[in-house]
Amino acid sequence: MKDFAAVRAAQEKWAREPLTTRIQAIRKFRQLLEERRETLAEKLTDEVGKPINQARNELKGTLGRIDFFVEHVADNLADEIVRNEGGVEERIQHEPLGVIANISAWNYPYFVGSNVFIPALLTGNAVLYKPSEYATKTGLAIAELLHEAGIPKDVFVAVPGGKEAGAELLKLPINGVFFTGSYATGVKINEAVAKKLIRVQLELGGKDPVYVCDDVDIKVTAASVADGAFYNTGQSCCSVERIYAHEGIYKEFTEAFVKEVSAFVVGDPRDEKTYIGPLTRPEQVAVLEAQVKDATDRGAHILCGGKRVPGKDNFFQPTVLINVTSEMKVMRDESFGPIIGIQSARNDDEAVKLMKETEYGLTAGVFTKDAVRARRILAHVPVGSAYWNCSDRVSPYLPWSGRGHSGIGTTLSHYGIQAFLQPKAWHLKSP
Ligand code: NAD
Repeated sequence: MKDFAAVRAAQEKWAREPLTTRIQAIRKFRQLLEERRETLAEKLTDEVGKPINQARNELKGTLGRIDFFVEHVADNLADEIVRNEGGVEERIQHEPLGVIANISAWNYPYFVGSNVFIPALLTGNAVLYKPSEYATKTGLAIAELLHEAGIPKDVFVAVPGGKEAGAELLKLPINGVFFTGSYATGVKINEAVAKKLIRVQLELGGKDPVYVCDDVDIKVTAASVADGAFYNTGQSCCSVERIYAHEGIYKEFTEAFVKEVSAFVVGDPRDEKTYIGPLTRPEQVAVLEAQVKDATDRGAHILCGGKRVPGKDNFFQPTVLINVTSEMKVMRDESFGPIIGIQSARNDDEAVKLMKETEYGLTAGVFTKDAVRARRILAHVPVGSAYWNCSDRVSPYLPWSGRGHSGIGTTLSHYGIQAFLQPKAWHLKSP
């Protein structure tokens, strides 16, 4: 890690630059990302095993997020005169936090990284960026592009390494920590910085449910939910991880769902046709095996998959389980892989009860033709994002946050710009 004093000094200088200078550098970064999209996508695929089309999609989606931040940063930085009475002007100024640590995950390095470092840099912060040890090359490529785009080297500092490097960063006199990763690590980070009394944001895992009502188009819904569950090989924080189907359509839906899943092409992530690639962390294969064993020991049935792919390291077959219950690990613990359980629900009230049976609260979805029914159900489920007839969806215009074990704080939307700012109250009395 570089000299922290140099980073502090560089941040103060960066914050004094006109906003147009900071925007210009981020715009240039966007241009470089777009120009080199194919090479960067290939690098990401080689490093984490993300199917190439999905790597391209991630890079394309990142451009849209950058556009949102660039377009909205000025409004968020503008001073607000909230009152002018009795010769006293009351004004709110928005100041950057200072030097922040961004400890990141590997599953969407461009998305989860840019949700933090783009608004942080635009608002005048310096960033100590620790990419995941599973996405180091991509993390270093991001740093190189930012520097090439004009972000000073002491304003964006990549700190590669594993959990020890992350823990070392937290010992520095940082002004905030923005973490994306697992609940277990999030708790450790929260504890490590507790006495610093700094801004802490933790974007953590999920066990996101979808409830399929009895009035849906079965085939369309099965295809949509299957994509929500298996995209990125099931390694998304907001992947669908539990399905509850109304008993009236349970059998028909389950058959249609298995048909969709069985059609997924599993294979070399560099192949254009591949939809399911390898798991990024080899250890996760054993976690999925244990979830399948736990479920089948307790009475679940495997409708497809259930095993690692023979002869292919780190590949797990797309797996669908039925006869599952809330006690089973597969319906309780984050799976983070291509595996899902489908449980029958007698009615909407029971579906709500089942959806709430988790400590996580990232997203939840309801599929139905009836908007009122969907809103009524989702109003009772404590999650940061509620989906009607969709899932696994993130928009830069909407706040991204979790409840419970899914974390604290917000990225994206105007909340995700304010997250890198602190208000200063000015009481200005004319003489
Ligand atoms: P992880 O918790 O294993 O690691 C995340 C980062 O923390 C890595 O950079 C790692 O090196 C670092 N780290 C580990 N221990 C540390 C410590 N003691 N001190 C400081 N840093 C430490 O998570 P992961 O496997 O990289 O990511 C997968 C998890 O991330 C899943 O749970 C997923 O749901 C979650 N995630 C959440 C979101 C969201 O927006 N809510 C987005 C993506 C991923």
